[in-house]
Amino acid sequence: MTMVTAASTEAMLPQPYSVQQVLKETADTFTLTLRPSNGAGASRFQPGQFSMLWVFGVGEVPISISGDPAQHHQLVYTVRSVGEATQMLVNRAVDEAVGVRGPFGRGWPVKEALGRDVLIIAGGIGLAPLRPVIYEVLHNREKYGRLVVLYGTRSPRDRLYRKELAAWVRQRDTQVLVTVDYGGLSWRGHVGAVTTLFKHARLQPARSVAFTCGPEIMMRFVARDLETLGLARENIYLSMERNMKCAVGFCGHCQYGPHFVCKDGPIFAYDRVRPLLGKYEL
Ligand SMILES: Cc1cc2nc3c(=O)[nH]c(=O)nc-3n(C[C@H](O)[C@H](O)[C@H](O)COP(=O)(O)OP(=O)(O)OC[C@H]3O[C@@H](n4cnc5c(N)ncnc54)[C@H](O)[C@@H]3O)c2cc1C
Repeated sequence: MTMVTAASTEAMLPQPYSVQQVLKETADTFTLTLRPSNGAGASRFQPGQFSMLWVFGVGEVPISISGDPAQHHQLVYTVRSVGEATQMLVNRAVDEAVGVRGPFGRGWPVKEALGRDVLIIAGGIGLAPLRPVIYEVLHNREKYGRLVVLYGTRSPRDRLYRKELAAWVRQRDTQVLVTVDYGGLSWRGHVGAVTTLFKHARLQPARSVAFTCGPEIMMRFVARDLETLGLARENIYLSMERNMKCAVGFCGHCQYGPHFVCKDGPIFAYDRVRPLLGKYEL
């Protein structure tokens, strides 16, 4: 039985934040910067953790933190409008209130990547929870090996963080490759699934740690191909997404086999979830 403690009760109370900035990324996706309404520092977080964002009168949704973990005065989220709560979130005006619970979950194990090459493979909005890892590596360049970012979207219009993608390409020991499913007439870049970028990536599988986030089917193929290339299963990490309510392991909404995505994840090593991947309705 799970014990209810003062700490767990606190975790259920949304803290008041207000919107500082709303930035349009694509037709349906926006990046929101929130600051605590009381002027205090924002909650510290690990790359890959998420918050529960509360839109008063509508509901609460899990959203990954997509900002820089070194910036302690704000929390940044990239939200795709897919339903009622996310639509209300992206339509928030500056100074409007949002309730924030968290951060929750186990993030990307960036410490495991110290001294090794860091391989980031993202699909669509999956780049959002990976962006804090990229900031972490770029702020501490000497502590990591090569940084390789492979990013796939449906079309060129769906790319997030376009200015930053262009800036990351210019960083030392960094390779950024982008591919799209449908390029259109003006696209001069790669076309195809994100896994088609592996042959263009300068990889050293034996000294790499891979972090991947995107549609589950994409992550399944990414992990399979990485293993074929020589990465050990325990060096491949995936971010799983399930509907959730409490975010602290009480309600069971996000159960995934023997795991709760909210507290055991959302980041899992491939060797832990491999038998579950692709199982129907799990
Ligand atoms: C750990 C975690 C991190 C997430 N990070 C982000 C993020 O950074 N940015 C972002 O835009 N979204 C993220 N999501 C997904 C986001 O929580 C859902 O899009 C949101 O809950 C939808 O709520 P809604 O009320 O707008 O839509 P609803 O009306 O609830 O649903 C609209 C559609 O989305 C589907 N849906 C709802 N919730 C989920 C879910 N959790 N996973 C998959 N499909 C869902 C529904 O089946 C329906 O088809 C994350 C989810 C999890 C679990």
